[in-house]
Formats: sequence, C-alpha cells, structure tokens
Amino acid sequence: MEGVCAAAFTAFTVAYSGYFFTHLARHISRAWRESALWKRPKGRKMPSKVYLLQLQGLSMQHQAEGQRQHLLWLPLHPRKRLKRRKVLMNLPLLSAQAQSKHHQAPPPLSWHLQELQQKALKEPPVPKLAKMLVSEGDPEAEYTELETIGKGGFGTVCMAVETATGEEVAIKKISLLQESGSELCLNEIQVMRGNKHANLVNYVDSYLLDEELWLVMEYMDGGSLHDVIRETRLAEGEIAAVSRECLQGLDFLHSKQVIHRDVKSHNILLRLDGSVKLADFGLAAQLTAEQSKRRSAVGTTYWMAPEIFTRKLYGPKVDIWSFGIVGIEMVEGAPPYRMKTSRTVQELISSGGRPKLQKPRQQSAWLRDFLHCCLERDEDRRWSAQELLQHPFVTSAKPTSELTPLIMATQQFMASRRY
Ligand code: ATP
Repeated sequence: MEGVCAAAFTAFTVAYSGYFFTHLARHISRAWRESALWKRPKGRKMPSKVYLLQLQGLSMQHQAEGQRQHLLWLPLHPRKRLKRRKVLMNLPLLSAQAQSKHHQAPPPLSWHLQELQQKALKEPPVPKLAKMLVSEGDPEAEYTELETIGKGGFGTVCMAVETATGEEVAIKKISLLQESGSELCLNEIQVMRGNKHANLVNYVDSYLLDEELWLVMEYMDGGSLHDVIRETRLAEGEIAAVSRECLQGLDFLHSKQVIHRDVKSHNILLRLDGSVKLADFGLAAQLTAEQSKRRSAVGTTYWMAPEIFTRKLYGPKVDIWSFGIVGIEMVEGAPPYRMKTSRTVQELISSGGRPKLQKPRQQSAWLRDFLHCCLERDEDRRWSAQELLQHPFVTSAKPTSELTPLIMATQQFMASRRY
C-alpha cells in the first residue's frame, strides 16, 4: 500500500512540475515578446515614426478608455517599412470624422493615421515590380550562407551554397528601402535573366525577403580583374586572352541590343580555372526599335566614352571605348588620368583628348593598334566587338587556363596582407 502511495505521489509531483514549468516558460516568453513589441510613446503625443497594428485581424483597433488609448505602438525600424505599407494598405481609409465617430479616437491621431495611409499609397511601386520578377520560396532554406565577399555601393554580396546541390553561388542583397539601389538591382535581374552566355556572370534566381531583394548568381571564385591588375603584371598573351573573353561577352550583349555602360576592371570577374566574365548589369540599357540610342550620362568617369561626356546620342560602342581603357589598365595597372579629378578627366576627354599608353614602345605594334581601334573618338570609326574579335592581337591570345597562376598569385598576395 505504502509503495502504491509513494508511486502515485511521485507521478503527481512529476506531472505537476511539468505542467508548472511549461506554463512558467510560456509566461516568460510572452512577457519578453510583449516587452519588445509594445512601446507606448513616452511624454510625446506621437513618436516620429510609428505605425499602428491591430492585434486581431489587420484592421485598426482604436478605443478610448477614459483618457487612455489602447494602441499598439511600434517604433518604425527601417526594415519594417514594407510591412507597414502592407498593413496600412489593408486598413480601410477612414476620414478623421468617421474615425472619431466610430472609434472615439481623438482627431489628431486620426489625422496622423490618414497621413500615414496616404504616404503608404504614394510609395513607389518597386515592391510590385520586384514581386513580378522574383521567384517564390524561402531563399534562407534553399541556400546556406558562408561568407561575405564584399560590399558595393548599395548592398552586400555573399558566398553561399545551394543546400540541395552543394553548388556555390554568390548572393547580392539590396535593400528595397534604397530606391536607387533596388532599381539598379531590378534592372540587373531583368538583363541577366534575358541574356545568358559563357562570358557573362549568369543568373541563377532572385527572391524578395521582407524588404530585401536577393539576386542569386554564379559564384566567381577568382575575384575581379581589378585585383589581378593591382597585384600582378599581365603579359600580352594574357591581356589578349582577357580581351577575347570580354569581347565575346560584349558581342553577345550588343547582338541583343544591350549596352553594359559600366565596363571596367572591377566588373570583370574571374574563376580559378581562368574563365573571364562580365558582371554588374545594374546600369545596362536595353535598346529597342523606338529607342536605338541613349543619351543619359551614366558610367564611371575614367572609363566613359567621349560621346557620353558631350551628351550626344550613343550606342553599344561606348562599351568598346570603356574596354580600351581596361586595356590600358591591364598594361599599366591603372586607367589613364588616374591622378586627375573626374572633372578634369571629363574636360580632357570632351575637348578631344585621347588616352595613350605612357610607354608605348614597350608594347607590341599589335597591342598598340588594338587599343587604337578601341579608343577611336569617332563612334562610327571605332571597331565593334565583332570586328575586334578578328584583330590579330586578339586572335593571338593564349588559352584562358594560363590565367590561373596569375589569379592564384593574386589571391595569395591578398591573403598574406590580410593576416
Ligand atoms: P558598385 O556596385 O557600387 O559599383 P561593386 O561593383 O564593388 O560596387 P557589387 O557588384 O555589389 O559592388 O560587388 C561587391 C563585391 O562582390 C565586389 O568585390 C565584387 O567583385 C564581388 N562580387 C560580385 N558579384 C560576384 C560574383 N558573382 N561572384 C563573386 N564575387 C562577386
């Protein structure tokens, strides 16, 4: 009998303590969540950035309880702006009068809500376009992030592996809250999706995660041509190999009526096997039958063609001029006029200047002629990518596999400086 009682008591104690601790944990976690979420404005009528969210459903709960208002105040962190937009778009647009009548809300608050709603309605339709372009699904489940490769002007690029296949990819993440950055990224997605080629960094997928745009693309494990130029010296055969690969990429883009508009060594990426690919299509422009030329001044100053500076209508050959500047970078380690301000460069190029090699006699006649054909001021006389692919300097190129030792040496130099 004693044994039965002891067993029953033990069972009760175990069951009760399980019940007690489960509830205690639930209470603690709820209190923690609420302390993070619920914030009332202190001493201010209205915090500068707030949004209203109802607990049940997504319509506004707004009750007066004596002088106190039961509102859920969330200070608006920038990452939440899109959610705020979503929430506000789901609210019925109430007039100040209607709100105060139905919800007994004091007028200033209703006015503020109205203002927020109207502002949300006016926000640019970037998320809409993004939603149309990107894939559904959870990229955080599909990819495992490994390391950050670098930071650009508008976002970060990290290296990741596709969980299902183990394939390496690069993911560019841009905040939609940065309007210009997200527009560039959306443009990049559109251009990459429609143009796949062995000499272009290829598109894998894209997603919208909260307010971030994720562009998944092939991972270039050899870094950029800019790094190689900075750390090593390229022989003419290697310069010719890089030129052939880039011109193949440009020839393809131009045949599809796309102008890259930001060709420079930073935007030419490499793989350890020696593959060379054009990257960064944020500024690319699609020409059409109605708009076969462009006029907007975009690009990076040192690499920009004269017709862009002089605000003339221009076509795909602006990329050839920029590639000519990359040619000088590959020979000398930096673009011409590197020490001059961008204003001076603009003046020099607009007023008839033509970038030249500092020590031309140290280079072969073929290389000099190749650069001459790229850096022809007259757009009509400047060679096209297709023509340049037949130039003897390019046809004498080494195989790309010969770039591997240079890429590896660059990575070693850079790593040794880091540690
Ligand atoms: P900005 O876009 O402002 O001109 P950026 O070109 O440096 O600057 P990103 O294009 O965002 O910026 O790239 C950031 C870094 O990530 C650069 O070092 C770039 O070489 C690297 N990177 C970009 N795409 C890839 C890729 N597909 N594989 C490997 N590295 C990449």
